Amino acid sequence: MSQSFAGVLPLLSALAVLVGCEASPRVETDPPPAPPLEQQEREFMVYSQIEARGIRDPRVLQAMREIPRADFVPAEVRDRAHRDSPLPIGYGQTISQPYIVAFMTEQLELDGSEKVLEIGTGSGYQAAILGRLAARVYSIEIVEALAQRSRALLEAKGIANVEVRSGDGYGGWPEHAPFDAILLTAAPDDIPEPLLEQLAVGGRLVAPVGVGLQELVLVTRDEEGLHFESLLPVRFVPMVGEAERD
Ligand code: SAH
Repeated sequence: MSQSFAGVLPLLSALAVLVGCEASPRVETDPPPAPPLEQQEREFMVYSQIEARGIRDPRVLQAMREIPRADFVPAEVRDRAHRDSPLPIGYGQTISQPYIVAFMTEQLELDGSEKVLEIGTGSGYQAAILGRLAARVYSIEIVEALAQRSRALLEAKGIANVEVRSGDGYGGWPEHAPFDAILLTAAPDDIPEPLLEQLAVGGRLVAPVGVGLQELVLVTRDEEGLHFESLLPVRFVPMVGEAERD
């Protein structure tokens, strides 16, 4: 009997190999590496502060998941980069609260084909988000040092469709007008006339407007003219320069 087993066993194992059911050695597969802490915090920021408050545009949510906000704030406040608040960026200026960035961006209804004007580049964060969502972005910053810093940062990040100019944004950027979308991130008492003029038919402009108590205003232009809609009470830094003399 033992003899017949000895003959059958190799045959059986050969058959097992043939049908692919031989016992394979146990391979310990490593769990996928956890994303870095900064990315986890960013994703949680989008989930808990932005999606949870009703921002729905999937492109806006994705851009905010992908653009590292922490890279756009000064090193001293980097540990607070994902908080639900504005943060100082130097020169008495601030980067807006993440939710407000998302809300304003969603209001522009970008599909990737647009030419966008931003007034108030600041850290360059909002410009980077717009760059991800539109074809081309022109951004103007009145504080020369901030313009230089954000230009260098955007360039270092390979964001090539955003152009930053230093100067007063009051007059817009006539060489590139009209714009499909215009975003002001500093608050004038009244929206400067040149910016309204540079809004394309079918375009959307979003701006904080007013002194002290400000309203976020959406301006749309159709064949008949401009339409104004008040969206939210907000608090932004004032638009300085020509807008103060208006
Ligand atoms: N979008 C910015 C927020 C910056 S705060 C970000 O993502 O970080 C508003 C900015 O508007 C400040 O940097 C301020 O210097 C700038 N600003 C104020 N008045 C301006 C004007 N008239 N023209 C251009 N920029 C202006």
